[in-house]
Amino acid sequence: MTSIATVIGARPQFIKAAPVSLAIAALTNLNELIIHTGQHFDANMSDIFFEELGIARPAHHLGISGGGHGEMTGAMLAALEKIYLRIKPEAVLVYGDTNSTLAGALAATKLHIPVVHVEAGLRSFNRRMPEEQNRIVVDHLSDLLLAPSRIAINNLHREGIESTKMMQVGDVMYDATLLFGQQAIGSSTILNRLRMVGKDYVLATIHRAENTDDPARLIRIMEALRAVADTIPVILPIHPRTMAAIQQRGCDLGRVTIIEPVGYLDMIVLESQASVIATDSGGVQKEAYFHRVPCVTLRDETEWVELVETGWNVLAPPTDAASVAATILNRAGSTGEDTSPYGDGKAAEKVALSMAELLA
Ligand code: UDP
Repeated sequence: MTSIATVIGARPQFIKAAPVSLAIAALTNLNELIIHTGQHFDANMSDIFFEELGIARPAHHLGISGGGHGEMTGAMLAALEKIYLRIKPEAVLVYGDTNSTLAGALAATKLHIPVVHVEAGLRSFNRRMPEEQNRIVVDHLSDLLLAPSRIAINNLHREGIESTKMMQVGDVMYDATLLFGQQAIGSSTILNRLRMVGKDYVLATIHRAENTDDPARLIRIMEALRAVADTIPVILPIHPRTMAAIQQRGCDLGRVTIIEPVGYLDMIVLESQASVIATDSGGVQKEAYFHRVPCVTLRDETEWVELVETGWNVLAPPTDAASVAATILNRAGSTGEDTSPYGDGKAAEKVALSMAELLA
């Protein structure tokens, strides 16, 4: 049986991998071995997703997290090379844009193992973002580039990548939303626990380095959320990096309801019932659209430009707390055009089948 290695390590990668792993098992003869780098390690940033989404236990766990980008990526590179040499995968599958993605792809390329990149072609055109650096390098190393949208394909063309290597498959996160939506509604008790059943609220998530590592931006965002919470409840499932930054800066969040990061099923319910979602997350911007909830993106730019163009999302660069708060409050009730830029919910199948074809 042909073995492939899937390298994942961060929360959004577990969610992306879930529908793809199911499709690989159902539709191909490939034997998938999961390697967890350890980039995210808290139970509520990692284990919960394996349990809830039925992802196979990692065959290898590197336990590498923290440190600078170079230190983390370098340690992953060294560890992955050893594992690849031992298990000899026929291909390596990577997702998105984290240091785990970069290390997974680079270690494979050096050993002449084909790399498959899911979520290829995304660009923010902001080279200061670690994610943008990772995406560009990984796309140029990959042998099969599976893009979520037409715009992503165009970005790859513009960078001179051969058309024969790329395919527009749609967004596997849409598949995950469809796959786990009903289960979430049936099993999650999060709204009861937060006493939010039937109530209007804003869901917020913040974790991008550009927001957490810049004290002035962080303080403006938190001031904006505090101001919104004086009018409508704000629920903030807080990323560990953001929690550390808030504690370090001593930000006052007023009436904002801060909760631990939640599992994916609770997140689906929190997102789908929100009046507005305010976020700097890539995945959460799209999920807002999948649930047809208006979104405010607390960044200067976004990779998911289709959502801004169709009116579902607006950018609110955190330059002024009062105007960010006003933008969030004014978003309730807005809608956008009904289009499907991210496919038909069958992206995972296309990923599995195109990988099987690559290896046939
Ligand atoms: N998510 C979750 N629990 C949370 C916050 C986010 O399950 O408390 C999910 C969210 O639904 C989405 C993914 O994590 O599927 C997004 O990950 P994140 O925001 O960490 O990364 P990004 O998408 O920005 O790369």
